[in-house]
Amino acid sequence: MFSKILIANRGEVAVRVIRACKEMGLRTVAVYSEPDAQSLHARLADEAVCIGSSHPSESYLNIPAIISAAEITDADAIHPGYGFLAENAHFAEICESCDITFIGPSPENMRLLGDKMTARKTAEKVGIPVIPGSPNIIKTKEEAIKIAKKLKYPVIIKASAGGGGKGMRVCHNDVRLVSSFMTAQQEAEAAFGNADVYLEKYLERPRHVEVQILADRFGHIVHLGERDCTIQRRHQKLIEESPSPAIDSKLRKKIGDMAVKAAKTCNYVNAGTVEFLLDRYGNFYFLEVNTRLQVEHPVTEMVTGIDLVKEQIKIASGMKLLYKQDAIKIKGAAIECRINAENTEKDFMPCPGKIDIYLPAGGPGVRVDSHVYSGCTIPPYYDSMIAKVISYGKNRQEAIDIMKRSLDEFIIEPIKTTIPFHKHVMNDTLFLRGDFATDYVERLSLSE
Ligand code: ADP
Repeated sequence: MFSKILIANRGEVAVRVIRACKEMGLRTVAVYSEPDAQSLHARLADEAVCIGSSHPSESYLNIPAIISAAEITDADAIHPGYGFLAENAHFAEICESCDITFIGPSPENMRLLGDKMTARKTAEKVGIPVIPGSPNIIKTKEEAIKIAKKLKYPVIIKASAGGGGKGMRVCHNDVRLVSSFMTAQQEAEAAFGNADVYLEKYLERPRHVEVQILADRFGHIVHLGERDCTIQRRHQKLIEESPSPAIDSKLRKKIGDMAVKAAKTCNYVNAGTVEFLLDRYGNFYFLEVNTRLQVEHPVTEMVTGIDLVKEQIKIASGMKLLYKQDAIKIKGAAIECRINAENTEKDFMPCPGKIDIYLPAGGPGVRVDSHVYSGCTIPPYYDSMIAKVISYGKNRQEAIDIMKRSLDEFIIEPIKTTIPFHKHVMNDTLFLRGDFATDYVERLSLSE
């Protein structure tokens, strides 16, 4: 086992990883940018090293500064959290070449699955259904029009190196396709340094259902059930839950098996998530594999009782996974609401600033993962997520009741947050019935 872990991240995920390390008796090193000097992760870690200025490229994406921080503090492993360098195969390789263990999948896993087009082809090869789409990267508008005709509108342009919804455009006709094609390529080039895009049929009103997997270095792979992440705004998740209210045990087994098969095919190691879209007729389609810890991982932890961060660390240190598939049981229901510093009345506009009062919810069935405290300042340079509230109940209704009560208790002043939005959803008939698709938030705002 490692003795000291550096966390190459900030915010709630850095705090989450530090907490797991402390419980495992491991020492921790935080890295922080100048505006994050007073951040909770820097305070909670045993040691903290400033790695640069506010811009991510100068700090949280600054590989030489992070490796130097690990070397001067004698850290023997790096946990990348999610975002920033978490899916960067080059970074993982540099860690290994410096004799520092990267806590995550192998660089080969990341390269193969980080490219959506290659991941699609890999899934298809082993018989996992994929969304109909272009067989290869599309180079010209003319080619795009030809393929869109075959697929039939609507279609979605996607960046092969994509993530975070960047480079993605839904198109309902040729005019829109032509006007979006170049912008999608440019956006992909700017965000990922890779302009490759491809087309997929745009499924109408699907649900997003993903499967958590864990794989050790000895080829033992298990899944930990699914998360339903259908409640999204502009293709970004806002509320997640486990189990999904849309699938039964038969479908659960089917996608669980598919996810394990996908992971086996790539000799996957560590924690990962296989994402699917589910259509109205109960058909599943492979979307992508995320080769890291997900923001929404706590709902899986609540219903399985398995700490995913501790498992990631144990696997990276070479330990065997102790769980057999049959021993993993889904018990109760969990819901996560992402509290973002955003004004929901102004189209979810980010609202960074100083927080004077922060009083999180508590009590039975409530977990809050956050880096916020009274008197802290949310800098404008990073993600607007400031807390995650997770409720756990013996069934979905109880988890909703606990979530409602938690959102009522939660005080964050004076900045605007997504709490009013979540309260609204928790009282909405369609949400209560579990009857929704990825256009839910759009429809909600239209109906107001
Ligand atoms: P990213 O990696 O940028 O987050 P994903 O491929 O994971 O992009 O897709 C994010 C979300 O976009 C999905 O959860 C879904 O809501 C929507 N989406 C993606 N592809 C399709 C599709 N072919 N049809 C319908 N919706 C899609």
